[in-house]
Formats: sequence, C-alpha cells, structure tokens
Amino acid sequence: MMTAGEEWNRKAYVHSWVRKHKPKQDYCTICNDVKKLELSNLSGEYHRDSNDFWWLCKSCHKLYDMVNNTHTIYNKIDSFFFKWNRYHY
Ligand SMILES: [Zn+2]
Repeated sequence: MMTAGEEWNRKAYVHSWVRKHKPKQDYCTICNDVKKLELSNLSGEYHRDSNDFWWLCKSCHKLYDMVNNTHTIYNKIDSFFFKWNRYHY
C-alpha cells in the first residue's frame, strides 16, 4: 500500500514519462478544437503507458474528470446501498 505522498510521486513520474513518449497532437481528442492541450489520464490508474492518456483541451479535461469522479462517487454509493440492503433485508 502506497502512502498518499508516494502515490503523488508515482503519478508525477508517470505524467512526465507520458509527456516525453506520447506524440504531441494539436487538436483536442473530444471536441477536435485546436487549443492548448493537456494530458488527461483515461483509466484513472495512471499506467505508464501512452495509451492510458489522451490529449484534451482544458474544458474537455475538466468535463472528463468530472464525469470520471461522478462515476467513482456513484460506484461508492452503489456499493454502500448494496451492503445496506444485505444488512436490512
Ligand atoms: Zn476539447
């Protein structure tokens, strides 16, 4: 189990690795706009793999992370109710 600090270091390392190895792109993968792009992680697990990242503009990056977080929150709520149901019925 990694501490939060170690996890942060790993993510920073993976990020810089991908920045070096992933070919640059000049348009956003989601909206195809030519804007300033950011590397966004796809799986949320930060694999040291250029396929686990894509180039997104700032607004799509924000949106994608929001959807991703919402998904995580829904999963947590889901498993909570699953346990709760098992306990009460
Ligand atoms: Zn975009």
